[in-house]
Amino acid sequence: MTATTGLDAEILLSTTGLTKRFPVRRGPLRRKVGEIRAVDGVDIAVRRGTTLGLVGESGSGKSTLARLVLRLIEATAGEVRFDGHDLRSLPDAELRPLRRRMQMVFQDPYSSFDPTSTLADSVGEPLRTHERAAPDTSRGRLVELFELVGLAPEYLERYPSQLSGGQLQRAAIARALAVGADLLVLDEPVSALDVSTQAQVVNLLQDLQRTLGVSYLFIAHDLSVVRHVSDRIAVMYLGRVVEEGPADQVYETPTHPYTEALLSAVPDPNPLRQRARERVILSGDLPSPANPPSGCHFRSRCRFAMEICATQAPSAFVTKQGVTTYCHLHTSGPVLAGAPVREHGEAGSRRIQ
Ligand code: SF4
Repeated sequence: MTATTGLDAEILLSTTGLTKRFPVRRGPLRRKVGEIRAVDGVDIAVRRGTTLGLVGESGSGKSTLARLVLRLIEATAGEVRFDGHDLRSLPDAELRPLRRRMQMVFQDPYSSFDPTSTLADSVGEPLRTHERAAPDTSRGRLVELFELVGLAPEYLERYPSQLSGGQLQRAAIARALAVGADLLVLDEPVSALDVSTQAQVVNLLQDLQRTLGVSYLFIAHDLSVVRHVSDRIAVMYLGRVVEEGPADQVYETPTHPYTEALLSAVPDPNPLRQRARERVILSGDLPSPANPPSGCHFRSRCRFAMEICATQAPSAFVTKQGVTTYCHLHTSGPVLAGAPVREHGEAGSRRIQ
């Protein structure tokens, strides 16, 4: 038996080499003609009581990864560990008690509630299913949960259409916490809300983390929101993680050209820094995950692409600051050797078409 290290004990959720391929079928016989590599060998870890932010363009595989870690869909390969359990090898009976400890909050709260049920019915449903709670016990717990998320108890008798988006997302968070979740997977939880409501929901999530010690996998395309809530950030591109590390480190000194390009589009509240910042425009669209570029998937849009980028997928390079980055610039030469991308001149780099 392998001894559990301090770091292992700190980690609530991890994936190793997690992969999901969807078949592409065509013709009247629906023959398989290819595969979409939605998630392609992803390693991530969420530490207890902390937030891992997962960012990337739409189509990068973030939401598929979220569903894989909760086993809402089955992986093609790789491992998912939750609190020391290998989820992919567990039979349903052993998975069930762990499932209640991992809950998901979706982007659109209106579509995640039954419009014909009151919130007491919807939010109380996990209590009745998992804990077989009697109606009076469950009522007391529901009032507590609503107070915890900043909703008055009278909202329990209302229907989803009678609440604003922000109020309903609070109710969705209450439902996720109803049976004592340790991990919330939040898939774009504030993207559908207006800016002031976004801030309120983000503050609520941070308060809940401080009070309950709950961990978050927070998925978003808005990098400023992710920075605000995350302890660490993983950046995904075309099914792969390209950079992962402490949030401030990744934001201030990105080591991967894709992270640098994403961040250059986020306005900096400091006008001096904003003026000094170079805007990196990404050329072209995200390539199809059914036919990704060979070697480094980012090479068709990277201003620093070299010959080696077309033939070899970059392996992990860990910087002194604890950032893991997947880019040949750090090892071929090496040019950067862990330094931020902004320290690399364009001289000598050649774009591979
Ligand atoms: Fe990928 Fe090469 Fe660009 Fe690094 S330099 S991101 S390995 S294409």
